[in-house]
Amino acid sequence: MKITTKEPNTDRLHRFTFENLPIRGQWVRLTQTVAAANAVRSYPTEINHLLSQMFAAAALFADNLKFEGAVALQSRGQGKLIRTLAECREQKFLRGIAHLSEDKPAPKQADNLCAWFENGQLALSLVPPEGSQQAPYQGFVPLEQPTLALNLETYLKNSEQISSRLFLANTDESVTGLIIQRLPSKDGATEINAAADEEAWHTIVTLAETISDTELVTLEPSELLIRLFAEFPCRIHPPRELGYKCTCSRDKSDRTLRMLAPAEIKSLLDELGSIDVDCEFCGTRYSYDAVDVDQLHRTHANAPDNGPVQ
Ligand SMILES: [Zn+2]
Repeated sequence: MKITTKEPNTDRLHRFTFENLPIRGQWVRLTQTVAAANAVRSYPTEINHLLSQMFAAAALFADNLKFEGAVALQSRGQGKLIRTLAECREQKFLRGIAHLSEDKPAPKQADNLCAWFENGQLALSLVPPEGSQQAPYQGFVPLEQPTLALNLETYLKNSEQISSRLFLANTDESVTGLIIQRLPSKDGATEINAAADEEAWHTIVTLAETISDTELVTLEPSELLIRLFAEFPCRIHPPRELGYKCTCSRDKSDRTLRMLAPAEIKSLLDELGSIDVDCEFCGTRYSYDAVDVDQLHRTHANAPDNGPVQ
């Protein structure tokens, strides 16, 4: 393993593997995604950090999938934080949002995640791409521990039977995630080999736990792996670039507008002169004046799948 020069400041994820050991890991750092999410809405620091960590976790989970669908982490709760969503599509496109109650005060224990959620639930959804034979999956993550990383570790242990250590840390401008996972020993491994694998895993976990948040958010992955695991030969794979990208479009906005009753649209046009449909994920505004609305209804009425023209 050699130290590389500083890498460009783009959102990226690296896998790494320990030579001759059934242990894998991934590292991810997101800066532009964090900036993009915060450009749409401003969040309290704790929620900025939580949403950023959800992006990092979604990216790490998506990278492990064998298909290019979507991974979504969603929360619902009864506290100040009503709901959150962070999704990673095609293993590289991220978007997300957090909704906060305007009526409720921020919790006193602001650094405890559970206090923001209040009887909350976190769900992990895996959505295969359209046309795939694979069935979608949704698992629920009990929210019993104060940090997202601890809750997700417990989830991975219980649902996938994989021992994992997950570390997530923020600056206000970025999030960095590191996960290491113990894979099964090779088929046909002798008891002695399996015991050696297990011992190496425990040593690697102990070493990983020495990382500080400051090191996690500042070191490049090559530096970090040397800092933590110098005695274990380790190979870093080329980066996967990620970025904030929305799925909204004029067409989807048209469909949203068509769901409103014509009388309601007319009243809005009379009152405002135009109607704006804002995408809550990316802030893109789709505006409609009377001519656009008229065109929208004509196009819709003439659409072949719209049944008989009235
Ligand atoms: Zn959008």
